[in-house]
Amino acid sequence: MSTGSAVAEPTRTSVAGPLGEARAQLAEAAAILGYDAAETAVLAAPRREVTVSIPLRRDDGTTEVLTGHRVQHNLSRGPAKGGLRYSPDVDLDEVRALAMWMTWKCALLDVPYGGAKGGVVIDPRQYSTAELERVTRRYTSEIMPMIGPTRDIPAPDIGTDEQTMAWMMDTYSVASGHTVLGVVTGKPISLGGSLGRASATSRGVVYTALAALRHLAIDPASATAAVQGFGKVGRGTARFLDEAGVRVTAVSDQYGAVWCGDGLDLPALEDHVDRTGSVTGWSGAEPVENDVLLALDVDLLVPAAVEGVIHRGNAAAVRARVVVEGANGPTTTEADRLLEERGVLVVPDILANAGGVVVSYFEWVQANQAYWWSEAEVEARLADRMAGAWQDVLAASRQHDCSLRTAATCLAVRRVAEAHRQRGLYP
Ligand code: NAD
Repeated sequence: MSTGSAVAEPTRTSVAGPLGEARAQLAEAAAILGYDAAETAVLAAPRREVTVSIPLRRDDGTTEVLTGHRVQHNLSRGPAKGGLRYSPDVDLDEVRALAMWMTWKCALLDVPYGGAKGGVVIDPRQYSTAELERVTRRYTSEIMPMIGPTRDIPAPDIGTDEQTMAWMMDTYSVASGHTVLGVVTGKPISLGGSLGRASATSRGVVYTALAALRHLAIDPASATAAVQGFGKVGRGTARFLDEAGVRVTAVSDQYGAVWCGDGLDLPALEDHVDRTGSVTGWSGAEPVENDVLLALDVDLLVPAAVEGVIHRGNAAAVRARVVVEGANGPTTTEADRLLEERGVLVVPDILANAGGVVVSYFEWVQANQAYWWSEAEVEARLADRMAGAWQDVLAASRQHDCSLRTAATCLAVRRVAEAHRQRGLYP
Protein backbone atom coordinates (compact mmCIF):
# COMPACT_ATOMS: atom_id res chain seq x y z
CA MET A 1 0.00 0.00 0.00
CA SER A 2 1.15 3.55 -0.69
CA THR A 3 2.77 5.39 2.15
CA GLY A 4 2.71 8.71 0.30
CA SER A 5 0.77 11.76 1.44
CA ALA A 6 -2.58 11.05 3.03
CA VAL A 7 -5.95 12.29 1.79
CA ALA A 8 -7.38 14.26 4.71
CA GLU A 9 -11.10 14.19 3.88
CA PRO A 10 -11.91 10.45 4.06
CA THR A 11 -10.34 10.14 7.51
CA ARG A 12 -11.80 13.31 9.03
CA THR A 13 -13.50 12.12 12.23
CA SER A 14 -14.98 15.51 13.08
CA VAL A 15 -17.90 14.76 10.74
CA ALA A 16 -21.08 14.43 12.80
CA GLY A 17 -23.30 11.35 12.90
CA PRO A 18 -22.66 7.78 11.78
CA LEU A 19 -19.87 8.69 9.34
CA GLY A 20 -17.89 10.36 12.12
CA GLU A 21 -18.47 7.28 14.31
CA ALA A 22 -17.38 4.90 11.55
CA ARG A 23 -14.25 6.91 10.80
CA ALA A 24 -13.38 7.18 14.50
CA GLN A 25 -13.66 3.39 14.86
CA LEU A 26 -11.41 2.86 11.84
CA ALA A 27 -8.90 5.43 13.15
CA GLU A 28 -8.72 3.63 16.52
CA ALA A 29 -8.21 0.23 14.86
CA ALA A 30 -5.61 1.62 12.46
CA ALA A 31 -3.68 3.16 15.36
CA ILE A 32 -3.66 -0.19 17.22
CA LEU A 33 -2.56 -1.99 14.04
CA GLY A 34 0.18 0.60 13.46
CA TYR A 35 -1.06 1.79 10.06
CA ASP A 36 0.08 5.20 8.91
CA ALA A 37 -2.19 8.04 7.77
CA ALA A 38 -1.94 7.13 4.09
CA GLU A 39 -2.90 3.49 4.65
CA THR A 40 -5.77 4.59 6.84
CA ALA A 41 -6.95 7.06 4.19
CA VAL A 42 -7.03 4.30 1.57
CA LEU A 43 -9.09 2.11 3.90
CA ALA A 44 -11.45 4.98 4.76
CA ALA A 45 -12.16 6.27 1.25
CA PRO A 46 -15.24 4.91 -0.56
CA ARG A 47 -14.25 3.41 -3.91
CA ARG A 48 -17.34 4.57 -5.78
CA GLU A 49 -20.36 6.70 -4.99
CA VAL A 50 -23.31 7.59 -7.14
CA THR A 51 -26.25 9.88 -6.47
CA VAL A 52 -29.22 9.57 -8.80
CA SER A 53 -32.49 11.38 -9.43
CA ILE A 54 -35.57 9.19 -9.43
CA PRO A 55 -38.45 10.88 -11.24
CA LEU A 56 -41.66 9.26 -9.99
CA ARG A 57 -45.07 9.35 -11.62
CA ARG A 58 -47.49 9.38 -8.67
CA ASP A 59 -50.80 7.57 -8.80
CA ASP A 60 -52.62 10.94 -9.11
CA GLY A 61 -50.71 11.75 -12.33
CA THR A 62 -48.30 14.31 -10.82
CA THR A 63 -44.53 13.85 -10.98
CA GLU A 64 -42.04 14.16 -8.16
CA VAL A 65 -38.28 13.74 -8.12
CA LEU A 66 -36.68 11.62 -5.40
CA THR A 67 -32.97 11.18 -4.62
CA GLY A 68 -31.09 7.89 -4.28
CA HIS A 69 -27.51 6.92 -3.45
CA ARG A 70 -25.32 3.84 -3.79
CA VAL A 71 -21.89 3.76 -2.19
CA GLN A 72 -19.33 0.99 -2.70
CA HIS A 73 -16.86 1.40 0.12
CA ASN A 74 -14.40 -1.37 -0.65
CA LEU A 75 -13.99 -3.99 -3.38
CA SER A 76 -10.67 -5.59 -2.43
CA ARG A 77 -12.05 -8.91 -1.13
CA GLY A 78 -14.81 -9.40 -3.70
CA PRO A 79 -17.95 -7.78 -5.07
CA ALA A 80 -19.62 -5.12 -2.96
CA LYS A 81 -22.50 -6.18 -0.71
CA GLY A 82 -24.98 -4.13 1.26
CA GLY A 83 -28.59 -3.26 1.93
CA LEU A 84 -30.93 -0.75 0.34
CA ARG A 85 -32.71 1.59 2.76
CA TYR A 86 -35.92 3.55 2.12
CA SER A 87 -36.20 6.28 4.74
CA PRO A 88 -36.76 10.05 4.84
CA ASP A 89 -33.57 10.29 6.94
CA VAL A 90 -31.25 8.79 4.29
CA ASP A 91 -28.31 11.03 3.39
CA LEU A 92 -25.05 10.42 1.59
CA ASP A 93 -22.89 10.50 4.74
CA GLU A 94 -25.14 7.93 6.41
CA VAL A 95 -24.88 5.66 3.36
CA ARG A 96 -21.08 6.09 3.40
CA ALA A 97 -20.94 5.03 7.05
CA LEU A 98 -23.19 2.02 6.51
CA ALA A 99 -21.11 0.97 3.48
CA MET A 100 -17.90 1.11 5.55
CA TRP A 101 -19.46 -1.01 8.32
CA MET A 102 -20.48 -3.55 5.65
CA THR A 103 -16.84 -3.83 4.55
CA TRP A 104 -15.75 -4.68 8.08
CA LYS A 105 -18.71 -7.03 8.66
CA CYS A 106 -17.99 -9.05 5.52
CA ALA A 107 -14.28 -9.26 6.39
CA LEU A 108 -14.98 -10.23 10.01
CA LEU A 109 -17.29 -13.08 8.99
CA ASP A 110 -14.88 -13.96 6.17
CA VAL A 111 -17.47 -13.76 3.40
CA PRO A 112 -15.82 -12.85 0.07
CA TYR A 113 -17.34 -9.41 -0.34
CA GLY A 114 -16.52 -5.77 0.04
CA GLY A 115 -19.00 -3.33 1.57
CA ALA A 116 -21.73 -1.20 0.01
CA LYS A 117 -24.99 0.47 0.93
CA GLY A 118 -27.82 2.19 -0.89
CA GLY A 119 -30.61 4.50 0.09
CA VAL A 120 -33.55 6.41 -1.28
CA VAL A 121 -34.86 9.49 0.52
CA ILE A 122 -38.48 8.45 0.86
CA ASP A 123 -41.00 7.62 3.57
CA PRO A 124 -42.37 4.37 2.11
CA ARG A 125 -45.53 4.57 4.27
CA GLN A 126 -46.66 7.60 2.28
CA TYR A 127 -46.55 5.79 -1.09
CA SER A 128 -48.72 3.10 -2.69
CA THR A 129 -47.31 -0.31 -3.62
CA ALA A 130 -47.46 0.64 -7.32
CA GLU A 131 -45.50 3.84 -6.61
CA LEU A 132 -42.88 1.94 -4.59
CA GLU A 133 -42.51 -0.50 -7.49
CA ARG A 134 -41.88 2.41 -9.90
CA VAL A 135 -39.35 3.98 -7.49
CA THR A 136 -37.52 0.66 -7.11
CA ARG A 137 -37.41 -0.06 -10.84
CA ARG A 138 -36.20 3.44 -11.72
CA TYR A 139 -33.57 3.44 -8.95
CA THR A 140 -32.35 0.00 -10.10
CA SER A 141 -32.16 1.17 -13.67
CA GLU A 142 -30.20 4.32 -12.65
CA ILE A 143 -27.58 2.33 -10.68
CA MET A 144 -27.56 -0.61 -13.15
CA PRO A 145 -23.93 -0.12 -14.33
CA MET A 146 -22.70 -0.50 -10.73
CA ILE A 147 -24.57 -3.64 -9.68
CA GLY A 148 -24.56 -7.30 -10.70
CA PRO A 149 -23.67 -10.68 -9.17
CA THR A 150 -19.93 -10.03 -9.62
CA ARG A 151 -20.06 -6.27 -8.94
CA ASP A 152 -22.43 -5.28 -6.15
CA ILE A 153 -25.30 -7.26 -4.64
CA PRO A 154 -28.03 -5.28 -2.79
CA ALA A 155 -30.29 -6.71 -0.06
CA PRO A 156 -33.18 -5.43 2.10
CA ASP A 157 -32.66 -2.93 4.92
CA ILE A 158 -34.90 -0.42 6.70
CA GLY A 159 -38.09 0.20 4.71
CA THR A 160 -37.41 -2.44 2.02
CA ASP A 161 -38.26 -6.13 1.86
CA GLU A 162 -38.29 -9.25 -0.32
CA GLN A 163 -40.80 -7.65 -2.71
CA THR A 164 -38.36 -4.76 -3.27
CA MET A 165 -35.65 -7.32 -4.06
CA ALA A 166 -37.95 -9.16 -6.49
CA TRP A 167 -38.57 -5.89 -8.40
CA MET A 168 -34.82 -5.14 -8.47
CA MET A 169 -34.02 -8.63 -9.72
CA ASP A 170 -36.70 -8.42 -12.40
CA THR A 171 -35.59 -4.96 -13.59
CA TYR A 172 -31.96 -6.07 -13.82
CA SER A 173 -32.92 -9.35 -15.52
CA VAL A 174 -35.15 -7.69 -18.13
CA ALA A 175 -32.31 -5.32 -19.06
CA SER A 176 -29.87 -8.28 -19.23
CA GLY A 177 -32.19 -10.37 -21.40
CA HIS A 178 -32.15 -13.33 -19.00
CA THR A 179 -32.92 -14.08 -15.37
CA VAL A 180 -30.07 -13.11 -13.02
CA LEU A 181 -30.88 -14.51 -9.59
CA GLY A 182 -27.53 -13.54 -8.05
CA VAL A 183 -27.95 -9.76 -8.45
CA VAL A 184 -29.74 -9.30 -5.10
CA THR A 185 -30.26 -11.33 -1.94
CA GLY A 186 -33.20 -11.41 0.44
CA LYS A 187 -35.46 -12.45 -2.44
CA PRO A 188 -38.73 -14.38 -1.99
CA ILE A 189 -38.15 -18.15 -1.68
CA SER A 190 -40.15 -18.71 -4.87
CA LEU A 191 -37.71 -16.48 -6.79
CA GLY A 192 -34.36 -17.89 -5.72
CA GLY A 193 -34.36 -16.73 -2.12
CA SER A 194 -32.67 -18.89 0.52
CA LEU A 195 -34.51 -20.75 3.24
CA GLY A 196 -33.50 -19.17 6.53
CA ARG A 197 -32.57 -15.74 5.06
CA ALA A 198 -35.56 -13.85 6.44
CA SER A 199 -34.74 -14.89 10.01
CA ALA A 200 -30.94 -14.93 9.64
CA THR A 201 -30.10 -11.52 11.09
CA SER A 202 -32.29 -12.10 14.13
CA ARG A 203 -30.92 -15.62 14.62
CA GLY A 204 -27.38 -14.25 14.50
CA VAL A 205 -28.27 -11.53 17.03
CA VAL A 206 -29.66 -14.18 19.37
CA TYR A 207 -26.64 -16.53 18.95
CA THR A 208 -24.33 -13.70 19.99
CA ALA A 209 -26.66 -12.49 22.74
CA LEU A 210 -26.80 -15.96 24.31
CA ALA A 211 -23.02 -16.34 23.97
CA ALA A 212 -22.51 -12.93 25.63
CA LEU A 213 -24.86 -13.78 28.51
CA ARG A 214 -23.08 -17.09 29.10
CA HIS A 215 -19.72 -15.30 28.91
CA LEU A 216 -20.90 -13.17 31.86
CA ALA A 217 -22.18 -16.31 33.63
CA ILE A 218 -25.80 -15.15 33.25
CA ASP A 219 -28.15 -18.08 32.70
CA PRO A 220 -30.39 -17.20 29.70
CA ALA A 221 -33.26 -19.01 31.40
CA SER A 222 -33.23 -16.46 34.20
CA ALA A 223 -32.33 -13.44 32.07
CA THR A 224 -34.55 -10.54 31.00
CA ALA A 225 -34.34 -8.53 27.78
CA ALA A 226 -35.68 -5.41 26.06
CA VAL A 227 -35.66 -5.04 22.26
CA GLN A 228 -35.89 -1.67 20.51
CA GLY A 229 -37.41 -1.89 17.00
CA PHE A 230 -39.98 -4.45 15.89
CA GLY A 231 -39.15 -4.77 12.20
CA LYS A 232 -37.30 -7.48 10.28
CA VAL A 233 -34.51 -7.66 12.88
CA GLY A 234 -36.19 -6.74 16.18
CA ARG A 235 -39.28 -8.88 15.80
CA GLY A 236 -37.38 -12.11 15.11
CA THR A 237 -34.87 -11.26 17.85
CA ALA A 238 -37.66 -10.93 20.43
CA ARG A 239 -39.25 -14.20 19.25
CA PHE A 240 -36.00 -16.23 19.26
CA LEU A 241 -34.96 -14.83 22.65
CA ASP A 242 -38.35 -15.86 23.99
CA GLU A 243 -37.94 -19.33 22.46
CA ALA A 244 -34.49 -19.60 24.10
CA GLY A 245 -36.10 -18.99 27.52
CA VAL A 246 -35.10 -15.32 27.94
CA ARG A 247 -37.93 -13.22 29.43
CA VAL A 248 -38.54 -10.37 26.95
CA THR A 249 -40.17 -7.64 29.06
CA ALA A 250 -40.30 -4.76 26.55
CA VAL A 251 -40.26 -4.02 22.84
CA SER A 252 -40.77 -0.84 20.85
CA ASP A 253 -41.22 0.58 17.39
CA GLN A 254 -41.12 4.13 16.08
CA TYR A 255 -44.61 4.80 17.53
CA GLY A 256 -43.92 3.73 21.14
CA ALA A 257 -43.00 0.89 23.50
CA VAL A 258 -44.83 -1.74 25.56
CA TRP A 259 -43.71 -3.36 28.83
CA CYS A 260 -44.78 -6.33 30.94
CA GLY A 261 -42.63 -7.36 33.91
CA ASP A 262 -43.72 -11.01 33.68
CA GLY A 263 -42.59 -11.18 30.04
CA LEU A 264 -44.53 -10.29 26.89
CA ASP A 265 -46.82 -12.83 25.26
CA LEU A 266 -44.97 -12.54 21.94
CA PRO A 267 -47.29 -14.62 19.70
CA ALA A 268 -50.23 -12.45 20.86
CA LEU A 269 -48.21 -9.26 20.35
CA GLU A 270 -47.20 -10.40 16.84
CA ASP A 271 -50.89 -10.94 16.00
CA HIS A 272 -51.63 -7.40 17.17
CA VAL A 273 -48.76 -5.98 15.04
CA ASP A 274 -49.97 -7.91 11.98
CA ARG A 275 -53.43 -6.38 12.43
CA THR A 276 -52.46 -2.80 13.34
CA GLY A 277 -48.92 -2.24 12.06
CA SER A 278 -47.55 -1.23 15.49
CA VAL A 279 -46.80 -2.60 18.97
CA THR A 280 -48.69 0.36 20.47
CA GLY A 281 -52.30 0.01 21.58
CA TRP A 282 -51.85 -3.63 22.59
CA SER A 283 -53.91 -4.50 25.67
CA GLY A 284 -51.50 -7.24 26.84
CA ALA A 285 -48.86 -4.82 28.21
CA GLU A 286 -48.37 -1.33 29.62
CA PRO A 287 -47.43 1.49 27.25
CA VAL A 288 -44.07 3.12 28.07
CA GLU A 289 -42.00 5.85 26.44
CA ASN A 290 -39.41 4.74 23.91
CA ASP A 291 -36.58 6.27 25.97
CA VAL A 292 -37.74 4.34 29.05
CA LEU A 293 -37.15 1.05 27.22
CA LEU A 294 -33.44 1.84 26.90
CA ALA A 295 -33.18 2.42 30.66
CA LEU A 296 -35.08 -0.65 31.87
CA ASP A 297 -33.57 -2.90 34.52
CA VAL A 298 -32.89 -5.88 32.22
CA ASP A 299 -29.87 -8.12 31.65
CA LEU A 300 -29.87 -7.68 27.88
CA LEU A 301 -30.70 -4.66 25.71
CA VAL A 302 -30.96 -5.11 21.93
CA PRO A 303 -31.21 -1.85 19.96
CA ALA A 304 -32.56 -3.10 16.61
CA ALA A 305 -33.95 0.06 15.00
CA VAL A 306 -31.76 2.95 13.84
CA GLU A 307 -28.37 4.62 14.43
CA GLY A 308 -27.32 6.79 17.35
CA VAL A 309 -30.06 5.85 19.85
CA ILE A 310 -27.62 5.27 22.74
CA HIS A 311 -25.71 8.51 23.08
CA ARG A 312 -23.92 10.74 25.59
CA GLY A 313 -27.25 11.97 26.94
CA ASN A 314 -28.72 8.58 27.87
CA ALA A 315 -25.78 6.12 28.15
CA ALA A 316 -25.60 6.60 31.93
CA ALA A 317 -29.24 5.53 32.21
CA VAL A 318 -28.67 2.15 30.49
CA ARG A 319 -28.96 -0.51 33.20
CA ALA A 320 -28.51 -3.63 31.05
CA ARG A 321 -25.34 -5.66 31.60
CA VAL A 322 -25.12 -6.59 27.92
CA VAL A 323 -25.97 -4.47 24.86
CA VAL A 324 -26.16 -6.47 21.63
CA GLU A 325 -26.34 -4.24 18.57
CA GLY A 326 -29.04 -5.56 16.24
CA ALA A 327 -29.09 -2.24 14.38
CA ASN A 328 -26.11 -0.74 12.59
CA GLY A 329 -24.43 2.02 14.59
CA PRO A 330 -26.93 2.34 17.47
CA THR A 331 -24.23 3.38 19.99
CA THR A 332 -22.25 6.58 19.53
CA THR A 333 -18.51 6.61 20.26
CA GLU A 334 -19.02 8.65 23.43
CA ALA A 335 -21.77 6.33 24.66
CA ASP A 336 -19.54 3.35 23.88
CA ARG A 337 -16.84 4.79 26.13
CA LEU A 338 -19.33 5.55 28.93
CA LEU A 339 -20.77 2.01 28.77
CA GLU A 340 -17.30 0.46 28.76
CA GLU A 341 -16.30 2.50 31.84
CA ARG A 342 -19.35 1.14 33.64
CA GLY A 343 -18.52 -2.45 32.66
CA VAL A 344 -21.45 -2.89 30.26
CA LEU A 345 -20.51 -5.47 27.62
CA VAL A 346 -21.32 -4.13 24.12
CA VAL A 347 -21.45 -6.71 21.32
CA PRO A 348 -20.80 -4.61 18.20
CA ASP A 349 -23.06 -4.48 15.16
CA ILE A 350 -20.46 -5.84 12.73
CA LEU A 351 -20.50 -9.07 14.73
CA ALA A 352 -23.99 -9.18 16.26
CA ASN A 353 -26.09 -8.47 13.17
CA ALA A 354 -23.85 -10.23 10.63
CA GLY A 355 -26.18 -13.24 10.32
CA GLY A 356 -28.03 -11.47 7.51
CA VAL A 357 -24.99 -11.03 5.30
CA VAL A 358 -23.80 -14.57 6.04
CA VAL A 359 -27.05 -16.08 4.76
CA SER A 360 -27.14 -13.53 1.92
CA TYR A 361 -23.79 -15.03 0.93
CA PHE A 362 -25.33 -18.52 1.14
CA GLU A 363 -28.24 -17.30 -1.01
CA TRP A 364 -25.84 -15.90 -3.63
CA VAL A 365 -23.84 -19.15 -3.67
CA GLN A 366 -27.04 -21.18 -4.10
CA ALA A 367 -28.39 -18.84 -6.81
CA ASN A 368 -25.12 -18.90 -8.75
CA GLN A 369 -25.04 -22.72 -8.59
CA ALA A 370 -28.82 -23.12 -9.02
CA TYR A 371 -28.67 -25.69 -6.21
CA TRP A 372 -30.70 -25.19 -3.04
CA TRP A 373 -29.90 -26.13 0.53
CA SER A 374 -32.32 -27.21 3.24
CA GLU A 375 -33.21 -24.80 6.04
CA ALA A 376 -31.38 -27.04 8.53
CA GLU A 377 -28.18 -26.83 6.43
CA VAL A 378 -28.44 -23.03 6.23
CA GLU A 379 -29.01 -22.68 9.95
CA ALA A 380 -26.21 -25.07 10.91
CA ARG A 381 -23.72 -23.22 8.69
CA LEU A 382 -24.91 -19.86 10.04
CA ALA A 383 -24.50 -21.05 13.64
CA ASP A 384 -20.96 -22.25 12.82
CA ARG A 385 -19.95 -18.91 11.31
CA MET A 386 -21.44 -16.87 14.15
CA ALA A 387 -19.83 -19.08 16.82
CA GLY A 388 -16.45 -18.86 15.07
CA ALA A 389 -16.62 -15.07 14.75
CA TRP A 390 -17.69 -14.69 18.41
CA GLN A 391 -14.69 -16.78 19.54
CA ASP A 392 -12.28 -14.85 17.27
CA VAL A 393 -13.49 -11.49 18.58
CA LEU A 394 -13.46 -12.61 22.21
CA ALA A 395 -9.90 -13.95 21.85
CA ALA A 396 -8.71 -10.74 20.16
CA SER A 397 -10.30 -8.59 22.85
CA ARG A 398 -8.50 -10.60 25.55
CA GLN A 399 -5.21 -10.51 23.65
CA HIS A 400 -5.28 -6.73 23.11
CA ASP A 401 -7.18 -5.97 26.32
CA CYS A 402 -9.73 -3.93 24.38
CA SER A 403 -13.49 -3.77 23.82
CA LEU A 404 -15.27 -6.28 21.60
CA ARG A 405 -15.91 -3.48 19.09
CA THR A 406 -12.25 -2.50 18.85
CA ALA A 407 -11.23 -6.17 18.62
CA ALA A 408 -13.78 -6.87 15.87
CA THR A 409 -12.82 -3.76 13.91
CA CYS A 410 -9.11 -4.60 14.18
CA LEU A 411 -9.65 -8.17 12.92
CA ALA A 412 -11.73 -6.92 9.99
CA VAL A 413 -9.53 -3.96 9.07
CA ARG A 414 -6.44 -6.18 9.10
CA ARG A 415 -8.07 -8.63 6.65
CA VAL A 416 -9.01 -5.82 4.27
CA ALA A 417 -5.57 -4.20 4.55
CA GLU A 418 -3.94 -7.57 3.79
CA ALA A 419 -6.05 -7.87 0.65
CA HIS A 420 -4.94 -4.36 -0.36
CA ARG A 421 -1.30 -5.22 0.17
CA GLN A 422 -1.49 -8.56 -1.64
CA ARG A 423 -3.25 -7.04 -4.63
CA GLY A 424 -0.90 -4.04 -4.75
CA LEU A 425 -1.74 -0.51 -5.80
CA TYR A 426 -2.82 -0.08 -9.42
CA PRO A 427 -1.24 1.32 -11.55
P1 NAD B 1 -37.27 -2.47 9.41
O1 NAD B 1 -37.65 -1.28 8.58
O2 NAD B 1 -37.81 -3.82 9.07
O3 NAD B 1 -37.63 -2.19 10.96
C1 NAD B 1 -37.20 -1.06 11.65
C2 NAD B 1 -37.97 -1.01 12.98
O4 NAD B 1 -37.45 0.03 13.81
C3 NAD B 1 -39.46 -0.72 12.81
O5 NAD B 1 -40.19 -1.47 13.77
C4 NAD B 1 -39.55 0.78 13.17
O6 NAD B 1 -40.84 1.17 13.62
C5 NAD B 1 -38.54 0.83 14.28
N1 NAD B 1 -38.02 2.16 14.62
C6 NAD B 1 -37.58 3.13 13.80
N2 NAD B 1 -37.18 4.18 14.52
C7 NAD B 1 -37.33 3.84 15.84
C8 NAD B 1 -37.08 4.48 17.07
N3 NAD B 1 -36.58 5.71 17.11
N4 NAD B 1 -37.36 3.82 18.22
C9 NAD B 1 -37.87 2.57 18.21
N5 NAD B 1 -38.12 1.91 17.06
C10 NAD B 1 -37.86 2.54 15.90
O7 NAD B 1 -35.67 -2.49 9.40
P2 NAD B 1 -34.72 -3.72 9.79
O8 NAD B 1 -34.35 -4.42 8.54
O9 NAD B 1 -35.28 -4.46 10.94
O10 NAD B 1 -33.40 -2.93 10.24
C11 NAD B 1 -33.22 -2.46 11.58
C12 NAD B 1 -31.75 -2.20 11.79
O11 NAD B 1 -31.00 -3.42 11.59
C13 NAD B 1 -31.10 -1.18 10.85
O12 NAD B 1 -30.07 -0.51 11.54
C14 NAD B 1 -30.49 -2.06 9.76
O13 NAD B 1 -29.46 -1.41 9.06
C15 NAD B 1 -29.99 -3.20 10.62
N6 NAD B 1 -29.74 -4.46 9.90
C16 NAD B 1 -30.72 -5.07 9.17
C17 NAD B 1 -30.45 -6.28 8.53
C18 NAD B 1 -31.51 -7.03 7.78
O14 NAD B 1 -31.23 -8.17 7.36
N7 NAD B 1 -32.71 -6.50 7.59
C19 NAD B 1 -29.17 -6.85 8.62
C20 NAD B 1 -28.20 -6.22 9.38
C21 NAD B 1 -28.49 -5.02 10.02
